[in-house]
Amino acid sequence: MGKRTPRRAVVLGGGIAGLFATRVLADQFDQVTLVDRDHLTGPNLLRRGLPQGHHLHGLLSRGQEITEEHFPGITEKMVADGSAIGDASNDVRWIINGKRLVQTDSGLACLTASRPFFESHIRERVLALPNVVLSELTDISRLEVSDDGRTIRGVWVFPEGEHETLLPADLVVDASGRGSRTPTWLEDLGYGRVPEEKHKIGMGYATRYYRIPDAAFEGDISVNTVASAGVPRGCICQKIDGGRAIVTAYGILGDHPPTDPDGYLNFIKSLAAPDIYEILQSAEALNDPVAYKFPTNLRRHYQLMSDFPAGFLVIGDGVASFNPSYAQGMTVSALGSVVLRKHVADRRPVHALAYFRDLAADAIDGCWDMAVSADLAFPGVEGERTPEIMETHDFISRTQDVASRDAAVSRAFQRVIGLVDHYTVLHEPELEAKILQG
Ligand SMILES: Cc1cc2nc3c(=O)[nH]c(=O)nc-3n(C[C@H](O)[C@H](O)[C@H](O)COP(=O)(O)OP(=O)(O)OC[C@H]3O[C@@H](n4cnc5c(N)ncnc54)[C@H](O)[C@@H]3O)c2cc1C
Repeated sequence: MGKRTPRRAVVLGGGIAGLFATRVLADQFDQVTLVDRDHLTGPNLLRRGLPQGHHLHGLLSRGQEITEEHFPGITEKMVADGSAIGDASNDVRWIINGKRLVQTDSGLACLTASRPFFESHIRERVLALPNVVLSELTDISRLEVSDDGRTIRGVWVFPEGEHETLLPADLVVDASGRGSRTPTWLEDLGYGRVPEEKHKIGMGYATRYYRIPDAAFEGDISVNTVASAGVPRGCICQKIDGGRAIVTAYGILGDHPPTDPDGYLNFIKSLAAPDIYEILQSAEALNDPVAYKFPTNLRRHYQLMSDFPAGFLVIGDGVASFNPSYAQGMTVSALGSVVLRKHVADRRPVHALAYFRDLAADAIDGCWDMAVSADLAFPGVEGERTPEIMETHDFISRTQDVASRDAAVSRAFQRVIGLVDHYTVLHEPELEAKILQG
């Protein structure tokens, strides 16, 4: 019997989506090469290719569960290394429309840490896999395509200071983020333009790090004053690694938090509840506020294309990147890795369009619809407010209101926004009756 040819995969981009993708591919391929232009293992954790890394990154409970499934024991390790941990409801103070939701046992763990902390812990576990090779400080150049243009056979890259090099692969997964060049590559190869959907939200973030005495949190690990139609400004203040706290303030449609310290504090003072402003009275700032602008929700509907080359997939923000204040992006990447795992199982060839259909249905659609619909609750956001959307706004607004008085509704709501339970649980007779009567 002849020797089996080793199967190789290449993952483009070493952010969260790339790391999760590498994890699942490592089970099925003999070698997986992870390519990123940044010095991922360098000392500068706030790296150039990840400008959003400075800002608050909440990992939803479902994302937390998948992370633990991929890397058993990682939760314990992160807590040992300084992440805060608590119950996603009992230890998190949610304030919506100025009302505090009932804090109750949700049964869901919530870890709070900085984005570089999450990423470096996941990366450490990925790089410990014996068949994973990291090619950092390496720029992605172009795809290697078969003569008939039907199959991607690898990727050409520029390792720093070296000539263009080919990384041959049986499967290339693009996880290079929102700026992914796949739409252009596909067009150049004659596959046409992927249908894109965009919704303008004009979101602006400003983030500052602090040292805050524990007592100021009154036992909570995070205080989330959510933007709503009445006061479209929000802020989250949470404990993170390094004994620090992170405060990210945000506003939509150009109403952005200023980056001068006084203006920043005044913005926080103008929120629908005084909690975070009061916490900051005893805080010591560690830096000046840093801004980030997020103009549009963007979705690339690869599942609607009629043709797609073999040996090539996309995952993460390169497929859908939406309103960061709902904290869904990393969890959608985690859900995407579960879909990818299914499609590479048993080492069978991947059917790209079938993968994209499952990615849409199982990882993206629910979060995208929720984000786009929730954005339309802000009067200035453009878009069609269908009767279904208006009905959803009404139902969610009632749910949030009742959740400020009723522990069962609050618990159910938390489990839905943590993506652990499907939103239809809110329509179970007992809960629905409370919500509608409320
Ligand atoms: C301000 C902000 C706040 C957010 N907050 C949250 C939150 O609270 N919770 C949450 O779950 N999500 C949040 N997100 C979303 C989250 O950051 C992403 O959804 C998630 O990290 C998945 O991104 P990704 O891995 O697909 O892409 P990215 O994180 O953008 O990673 C892409 C990687 O590809 C590399 N790369 C790109 N181009 C090249 C190239 N040409 N050559 C080599 N390497 C390249 C980059 O260096 C980078 O490492 C937020 C996003 C923003 C913008």
